[in-house]
Amino acid sequence: MICDSHCHLKHGNKEMTEYSARQIVEAMDGAGIDKTVVFAMCLSSAQAIEMTHQAHREFPGRLIPYAYAIPHISEPALPHVERAVRELGFRGIKVHGGETRLTPYVIDPVFDLAGRLGVPCLVDFAGNVDYTRRIAGAFPKTTIIIAHMGRYLCTDRGLLDQFIKIAEDHENVILDTSGVVIPGKVTEAVHRIGSERMAWGIDGPYPAPDLASFAKEEIERIRILPISEKDRDNLFWGTIARLLKLE
Ligand SMILES: [Zn+2]
Repeated sequence: MICDSHCHLKHGNKEMTEYSARQIVEAMDGAGIDKTVVFAMCLSSAQAIEMTHQAHREFPGRLIPYAYAIPHISEPALPHVERAVRELGFRGIKVHGGETRLTPYVIDPVFDLAGRLGVPCLVDFAGNVDYTRRIAGAFPKTTIIIAHMGRYLCTDRGLLDQFIKIAEDHENVILDTSGVVIPGKVTEAVHRIGSERMAWGIDGPYPAPDLASFAKEEIERIRILPISEKDRDNLFWGTIARLLKLE
């Protein structure tokens, strides 16, 4: 079984691309992916949750919804996120450090809520080690999934080391391997923190050359790592299945 733990319906890149639920599911079929975690960003929490809710309603067996938490001056995020999890079947929360501030007075209520609801928070910390360490330590009952093992497309081995160290020090921390371009660091993290605290994802979809090919390449990048079959299973399925109670 394969679950992509990180996929955008609406992406935060400069093209502001949107992908339909159908496009994503067709790419999953093409690449052999069973389930995919989806969310939207570059929207208010209410709008992102609505877009994700529709996608989940269209493909309830394939797409797993996360609620986008973006504390906003004109609109509080928490009631939308709480309703999404309690009433709409959302399984997790997404936070993006490029779109919201990660300072305590802005973001801490989101991590507190995630802990109370018992759902993981997938967070793009955008390379900020200090914020990550503070949040991991301040919310030991909240599962924090660190997107991209710390920073998207990071080529700084020392920086990735610091994020692996945070995961070593805090058992509530999971590392997401999407957008990691130094494969050796994934292998190293498996040995240092264990594959049961690592989850694979593609941070897609990406259009070139087509959605399914990109996903297939990302699967292959894990398949060729010098890790055990059990570790591969944990990356592709076991870890996220346990966190999200997937069947
Ligand atoms: Zn992403």
